[in-house]
Amino acid sequence: MGQNLRPTNKNLDGVVPYDPKYLPARLMLSANENPGGLPTAVAGEVIVALSKVQMNRYPDPLANDLRDLIAQQYGLVRENVMVGNGGDELLFNIAFAWGGAGRTMLDCPPTFSVYAANARLCGTTVVNIDRKIEQVTGFCSNDRVASIALGSALGAFPVNEEAVLERVAQGDIDYLTICTPNNPTGDLSSVDFIERLLDATDALVVVDEAYGEFAPEGSSVVPLLAKHKNLAVLRTLSKAYSMAGVRLGYLLANPEVITELQKVRQPYSVDSLSQTVAKEVFKFLDLFEARTALLASECDRVFEALNAMDGVVAYPSAANYILFKLEEADAGVVWQKLYDAGVLVRDFSASPYTPNSLRVSMGIPEQNDAFLATLASILEEEKSNSELQG
Ligand SMILES: *Cc1c(COP(=O)(O)O)cnc(C)c1O
Repeated sequence: MGQNLRPTNKNLDGVVPYDPKYLPARLMLSANENPGGLPTAVAGEVIVALSKVQMNRYPDPLANDLRDLIAQQYGLVRENVMVGNGGDELLFNIAFAWGGAGRTMLDCPPTFSVYAANARLCGTTVVNIDRKIEQVTGFCSNDRVASIALGSALGAFPVNEEAVLERVAQGDIDYLTICTPNNPTGDLSSVDFIERLLDATDALVVVDEAYGEFAPEGSSVVPLLAKHKNLAVLRTLSKAYSMAGVRLGYLLANPEVITELQKVRQPYSVDSLSQTVAKEVFKFLDLFEARTALLASECDRVFEALNAMDGVVAYPSAANYILFKLEEADAGVVWQKLYDAGVLVRDFSASPYTPNSLRVSMGIPEQNDAFLATLASILEEEKSNSELQG
């Protein structure tokens, strides 16, 4: 005895542990993090508040003070809010509560791979309705405000809206997640489509707005919570609010949805330190606006610069990152050369939906300029290499 180990749950067969190749680099442009820390005024308050935390005591299991602060921000009440150890934990809670053997999730790839991964772990059947791929050569501007004014979706990989509506009408979908702005493509779905979807199904419709702060005003579906019981909106402090290292995400939903999820939630998953930091951040949200706006405008500028490069097709994005396809050079080779030059981006070329494509997160302007210059010289080098080889 002792030489053998029983196998795990068969849902784990063939699962490869998540490894986004998050390596140290001079320019960290791979994880859509905020390039800067907390604004100085907030950081000062955080230090004071942290010094008062009683680490020998359990945290508030329901995080009620923090839930109140979050609720206030949206004109909701604490019963509408659940916090998690990062948005990722909440996505898992949803997958556990609304999925499982004999249940079905609808996915719209290419999108955040965590949705399908969670479904697989829970033994949930996944139905894919692929996003459409639009001709992208016509895009010359990434103007967020104009696209919203037209009430339309933005991007090159829009959700196949009619196919999704038809599929949910069959009645067997238990939940689905629409990521908007979509990671990794940057597409924005229209509020109008989400509302039609909410009306077409009793499935839980999770709208992942992890990048909502970067999107144009009026693109959030939070106002729909007032009328739709089957909506849950995911948000996080990891991106616009500089707190990826702290792990704090939250879900806004009808109290019935929150109550179901609380049955699943690990009571102490959001520790006292995270609750304390998040409470300070929620008191000073305004102080983050300037940097968020800068990153959004950098996204528009870098989009233009990438598309101006030979052999690069950049996809329009409403977030703080850009997916781009290399038409000639090999994305894996370019990824490695960027990394060797101190620039870490994310390689999406393993996905059949995003062949030969990389995703770059926005840094401050000097960092983005350094990325663009490095990429341009690598592509130049690759071009002359391929010419030499004939
Ligand atoms: C980053 C991200 C999240 C949540 O991230 P956390 O750090 O776990 O809060 C959720 N959805 C998408 C699409 C993301 O990119």
